Amino acid sequence: EVKKNGKNGYQFFSCELNAQVEQRVELEADLRRALERGEFLLHYQPQIRADDESIIGVEALVRWNHPTKGILPPGMFVPVAEDTGLIMELESRVLYEACRQMQSWHESGAPLISVAVNLSSHQFYHSSLTQQIKDVIEQTGLEAKYLELEITESLMMNPEVSSTVLKELANLGIRISLDDFGTGYSSLSYLKKLPINKLKIDRSFIQDIAHNDSDKAIVASIIDMAHHLNLNVIAEGIETKDQLEILSQHNCREVQGYYFSRPLPASELERVYLHP
Ligand code: C2E
Ligand code: MG
Ligand code: MG
Ligand code: MG
Repeated sequence: EVKKNGKNGYQFFSCELNAQVEQRVELEADLRRALERGEFLLHYQPQIRADDESIIGVEALVRWNHPTKGILPPGMFVPVAEDTGLIMELESRVLYEACRQMQSWHESGAPLISVAVNLSSHQFYHSSLTQQIKDVIEQTGLEAKYLELEITESLMMNPEVSSTVLKELANLGIRISLDDFGTGYSSLSYLKKLPINKLKIDRSFIQDIAHNDSDKAIVASIIDMAHHLNLNVIAEGIETKDQLEILSQHNCREVQGYYFSRPLPASELERVYLHP
C-alpha cells in the first residue's frame, strides 16, 4: 500500500497500473465468453486485378461483435488473444469459417476466387497446423488451391522450422503469401529457398507513394524482385487513384485497399462482387 498520495506520483502510477491489469484480466474473461458464444465474425476485403479491376480473391479479417461495444477490430483483441493462447481457438474458427464461406460461394455459382487467411506465429509453429489445414479442407470441401495463408516475414527468422512447415503446406496445394512485406528484419535469402507464392507489399510503402520518391523506388524494386523470382505480388492499402496508377505503371498486377472497398460483411461482399 502506498502511504502518501505523494507528489512523486507513485500512488497515481500504481493505480494506473492496477487499472491496466484489471482491464486485461477482464478482456481475457470477455474473450473466453465470446468464443463460447460465437461472437466472432469475418469481414472480407476484395483483392483486385489492377488492369480490369475484377475480383480475384478476398482477405478474411476477423471482427468481434461485442454485445455492448459493437464491432471491434482485431487490433483491440488479437494481441491479448495471442498472449493468452486463445488465438489458437480463435484462428481455428476463422480458418474453418473462411473456407466454409468460400466453398459455399463457389457452390452458389460465384467466380472461383480464393480466400486469404491471416496466421499468427502461434498457429504457424503449432505442430498440428498441417493436419488442421488438411481437416478444414476435407470438412469444407474447398479445394486447397483456393486457400492462401498470410504469414509475416518475422517467421522466416527461424528458417529450419519455417521451411518444414511451408513445404508441408505447399504439398497440400495451399498458397503462401508474405504479409506486410518490407517491414520485417529478416534476410531475403529465404525467398529463393522456400515455397512462397506471393509478396504483399506493406501499406506503409504505399501511403505516400505519390509524393515520396524513396517509397516509390522501394515499391518498384520489390515488384521487380518478385517478378524475377517468379513470385506474385500484391500491394495493400491503396486509397487513391494516383496510388493505383503508379502501381500499375510499375507492373503491380494485384491490389487491395479502401480505394476499391473496405472489408465487407459476407452478405455485402456477395451482393456487390459475387452476384451483382
Ligand atoms: P493485415 O493482415 O495487414 O490486414 C490489412 C489491414 O489493413 C486490415 O485491418 C484492413 O482493414 C486494413 N486496410 C485495408 N485496406 C486499407 C486501406 O486502404 N487503408 C487503410 N488505412 N487500411 C486498410 P484490420 O482488419 O483492422 O486488421 C489488422 C490486422 O489484424 C491485420 O493486418 C492482421 O495482421 C490482423 N488480423 C486480422 N484478422 C486476423 C486473423 O483472423 N488472425 C490473425 N492472427 N490476425 C488477424
Ligand atoms: Mg493480411
Ligand atoms: Mg498486411
Ligand atoms: Mg498489416
